[in-house]
Amino acid sequence: MHRVFLSLGSNLGKKVDYLDNAVDMIKKNKFIHNVKVSSMYQTDPVGYLDQDVFVNIAVVLETTLAPYDLLKVCQEIEKTLNRERLIRWGPRTIDVDIILYDDLKLDDKTLTIPHPRMHERAFVLVPICELDSELVIQSQKIQTLIETVDVSGVRKI
Ligand code: ATP
Ligand code: CA
Ligand code: CA
Repeated sequence: MHRVFLSLGSNLGKKVDYLDNAVDMIKKNKFIHNVKVSSMYQTDPVGYLDQDVFVNIAVVLETTLAPYDLLKVCQEIEKTLNRERLIRWGPRTIDVDIILYDDLKLDDKTLTIPHPRMHERAFVLVPICELDSELVIQSQKIQTLIETVDVSGVRKI
């Protein structure tokens, strides 16, 4: 079994429903077990600012799926929930990112783990810390990572 953290976000339409539906699909996958979900957080957009606020959650799970098969599952969920890619970092019904997969380090064209922008993203770190406040990522405590980012745009719902 591999321990995985995912980050999910939505900022189009019924955001909470998209997130709930995505979590349902994750829980229904027969290769995924022990799914735990953080609180929902309303977060200000970063990167591309001219768009609605996001709702973000983190999910921790156990799986026998290999990283690329898990990515396929994430992308299948995005497809089912009508994710379209128009603007980089722009509005989306749902985004499902793999943040951590055990202690695995992977970097190629289609998959980078840990997620390459996780360290700078309060909307990723804060929900993950809620699920595991003792987590250590490449010898850095999650609490320490959070101290380096601006958490003012991340509000628990
Ligand atoms: P960001 O990656 O900055 O969060 P994004 O989530 O909006 O931006 P997407 O358009 O959803 O970007 O994804 C672009 C590509 O990123 C995907 O097609 C996928 O192959 C790749 N990718 C690389 N690493 C990961 C990862 N850890 N989790 C999910 N996708 C990843
Ligand atoms: Ca993303
Ligand atoms: Ca993504």
